[in-house]
Amino acid sequence: MSVLVYVEQVDGKFKKSVFEAVSYAKAIADIQGSSLTAISIGNVGEAELKELGKYGASKVLNVSNDQLKNFVNQAYASVIAEAAKKENAAVVVLSNSFSGKGLAPRVAVKLEAGLVDGAVELPKLDGGQFLVKKTAFSGKAFAITELTSAIKVIALNPNAFGVKESAVEATVEAFSPEIKATDFTAIVKEIVRATNKVSLPDAELVVSAGRGLKGPENWGMIEELANLLGAATACSKPVSDADWRPHSEHVGQTGIAISPNLYIAIGISGAIQHLAGVSSSKVIVVINIDPEAPFFKVADYGIVGDAFVVVPKLIEALKAHKG
Ligand SMILES: Cc1cc2nc3c(=O)[nH]c(=O)nc-3n(C[C@H](O)[C@H](O)[C@H](O)COP(=O)(O)OP(=O)(O)OC[C@H]3O[C@@H](n4cnc5c(N)ncnc54)[C@H](O)[C@@H]3O)c2cc1C
Repeated sequence: MSVLVYVEQVDGKFKKSVFEAVSYAKAIADIQGSSLTAISIGNVGEAELKELGKYGASKVLNVSNDQLKNFVNQAYASVIAEAAKKENAAVVVLSNSFSGKGLAPRVAVKLEAGLVDGAVELPKLDGGQFLVKKTAFSGKAFAITELTSAIKVIALNPNAFGVKESAVEATVEAFSPEIKATDFTAIVKEIVRATNKVSLPDAELVVSAGRGLKGPENWGMIEELANLLGAATACSKPVSDADWRPHSEHVGQTGIAISPNLYIAIGISGAIQHLAGVSSSKVIVVINIDPEAPFFKVADYGIVGDAFVVVPKLIEALKAHKG
């Protein structure tokens, strides 16, 4: 019996959320007194694969196959399920990332496993029960879910557990599962990056703005602040609906759900539909002219002030700090 964790790569590199998923899976393996195996799909170098040992993966299955160079949901799910069977895995962990959200249910179906997505804590083993806390109702509540199946699939919310080192020597093993033509009904032929900016779902820092900014011509200062911080930019729904910003930046219930370490909300009221996508951010800073704006209720730090005064001052201070 073991724990298996899927480690998603981008251009041959692992993101922080991967090390977090490995740390979480290692903690489950420790609870169960079992070992942790990671499965990597795509072309990743030996040194990068061995990095996973730092977070507790003692074995890394490496599937290096040109057919799987780009992410293909069905095929990747089949490979992960095969790896789970090979490793006799009782628990399979994935990151609840954009691709993890598509993979986890497919892996669960293939393994006839129970699934918890959006997990925020380690499972509690209570009198034979296997209980996992997860977000529910777009992050407005938590649900405690019991998994009763023999194999369990858990998709961990990014930033919910943190990265924890637990160094072991990782051995890398080539893994060549049977790949079926039926798994390739949709194939990614090429990935073309839209921009070189920090990707919003993966960003650790996000600077976001709303209708309080009055118009698209005022976004220069938001981008400048984001650039200085190395942050991604986001916006509220009406802003993208009005074409002031691209729809790819719209966060919230109907937009992208994010959980960065820092979310700076400028001129955004804090409607529940907006909060649904951002409230699991670690630290929330709100800048709003209206002291009664609902966003202040969930803010860790708040500045009551005019964005057109406060943001330039922040930019000035950051420039001075950076020298
Ligand atoms: C089914 C449904 C789904 C939805 N999904 C989403 C979603 O995913 N994401 C989302 O964002 N919304 C969503 N909405 C819309 C949501 O209800 C709000 O209408 C929206 O979030 C409001 O955007 P806003 O805060 O930018 O604008 P407003 O509500 O107009 O608020 C602007 C804020 O800026 C402040 N302000 C004004 N001038 C300044 C200034 N100079 N400096 C500083 N502050 C200033 C104001 O005090 C105010 O708080 C959804 C709505 C529905 C019905």
